Parts: sequence; C-alpha cells; structure tokens
Amino acid sequence: MIRSWSTIAVSLAAALSVLPAGIVRAELPDSPVKSSAASCARPDFRVVLDVGHTAKSPGAKSARGADEFNFNLRLAKQIDHALLEAGFAKTVLMVTDGPGTRSMYARVARTNELSANLLLSIHHDSVPDRFLEKWDYNGKPEMFSDRFAGHSIFVSDDNLDPKDSLLFGSMLGKQLKARGLQYTPHYTESFMGRWRRTLLDADAGVYRYDTLFVLKKTQMPAVLLEAGSIANRNEELVMASPERQQLISAAVVDAVDSFCAAQSHKPALQIAQRSKVRHVLSAHSHQRTRKRTDSATPLTSVSQSTFDIH
Ligand SMILES: [Zn+2]
Repeated sequence: MIRSWSTIAVSLAAALSVLPAGIVRAELPDSPVKSSAASCARPDFRVVLDVGHTAKSPGAKSARGADEFNFNLRLAKQIDHALLEAGFAKTVLMVTDGPGTRSMYARVARTNELSANLLLSIHHDSVPDRFLEKWDYNGKPEMFSDRFAGHSIFVSDDNLDPKDSLLFGSMLGKQLKARGLQYTPHYTESFMGRWRRTLLDADAGVYRYDTLFVLKKTQMPAVLLEAGSIANRNEELVMASPERQQLISAAVVDAVDSFCAAQSHKPALQIAQRSKVRHVLSAHSHQRTRKRTDSATPLTSVSQSTFDIH
C-alpha cells in the first residue's frame, strides 16, 4: 500500500552503510524452457521480485488485522516459483529487512547491483484512512473498507526507462485482464486527493506515479503491482487463496516473456545505451563510496528530495 508522503533528508551514504538486504536466492528449476519462447532468452533474463515492505515495517493492515508484508511475501514466492519453472533461472526474490526508509535504499542498491533486466515490486493495497470503517473480527476491533476492489499497476516517468516500464506494465495489465481480473479505476477520482493518479493505459490499468522511490531510483524498467485490496473483506480472502496467487503468477510469467521477447527485438544500440548509462551511474556511485570511505564525510546526494515511501 502507498502509506505515506514524506520529505526526507537522509544521507545516502549513511543509509547504504547499513545495508542488510536479505536476498533469498532462488534455485534453478528442473523443467525445460518452453519452445514457444524462442525469441526470449529466458535463462539470461533477470527479473528482480521486490517484496514490498519489511517484517519490521509491514505496510498496510488487512481487514482482519494481517500484515501486508506477509501477503506480499506469499505472492512474490509464488511468482518466483512460476518464473523459475518457466525457465527464468536468474530470477531473484528480494526480501529486505529493518525500518522502511532503510529498506528502501537497500532494495534499490541491491537491484542496481544485480543488473536486473526488470524490477517488479509486489504490494497489496488499502485505502486512505478516512475511508476506513470499524468492525469486530474474532472479538477484536479492526478496520476495513469494502468500497474498492481490484489491482492497480504503477510506473514512474522518472525511471531511467519510462517507456519500457510502461510497456511491461501494460503487458502485465493485459495478462491480468485476460484472466478475468479487473483493475480498480478509483485512483483517477478527485476524492483520492493527493493519491489521485493519471491513468496511462486505460485498458491495462497502468497509472503514472513518478515519486515512488523504488521505481524512480532503479536503473532498469520498473513496475509496482498492487495485487488487490486487503482492506476489502472479500478481496482479502481471495488474495490469501493459492488459486488467486497462481492466477497472478501465470499472468506475470506471460507478461515477462512478452517483455523479454520485445527487448530481444530491440536494436542493439538502444540496449547498449541503457547499459552504458547504468554502468556510468554505477561507476559514479562506487567513486563516491570510495571518497566517503577516505574522508568519512557524509554524502547528501538525496538530501531534501521528495519521494514516497513504499
Ligand atoms: Zn505496500
């Protein structure tokens, strides 16, 4: 869930110096690559699955009081399994820990180090606090909102590759739609206030959200999926079901395959240019890290920047 809007003054160096990104490495699958994916070199294509939030900063609360982080972890594990089975052997399931802000830097730094071809951040949605209502579940007071249901997809125009981010977002939205899943259109409504978003692809349900940190700071096409609303009492139960998790996983695999194939048809120069930018950025950051080690002077490269914590 998109929890808060913040102006944060944090030293990037300070944040990066405490990076305990708990990366769960995936194992190689036994199953062969499908012959239908001839145009996509699945074993070479790396998807990083970012599990939204951490055990310590678990994101939204469901209608029955469960943490969003656990929903994100369960679904991301299922998607990871499906991608590996489909032959995407370089898939990485990324789990970070610690407080939310620190984990945000950790996930971006780790994803960039991994030279991923694609980042998919997995979340589950809730609603702005003013829409929440009270009810009792198992004798405990909880909060819910049945007002909205459905998934939503976000991309940032500040990403290094906004065009391909939107391309993958659209592919994912269409695969979800093909499986009978409907996106929620409520982010376009004026009552969403500061959470209101521009719909970039009305068929696939892709919204523009420039300030999402994990999308704007990663150096590859990046997409955030709010898989469904866990504040909604019915949808919470559906999202917890293995059937829905498998359906979403199948949609992700087909979308990743289409995206990977589309990338393989790109002119080599275009991909090389993006790669060059990535390496320049990487070298620059190493340089700054060394400088900091020498001088012990805190960096302020992202001080005063405004972005959304996710
Ligand atoms: Zn979230």
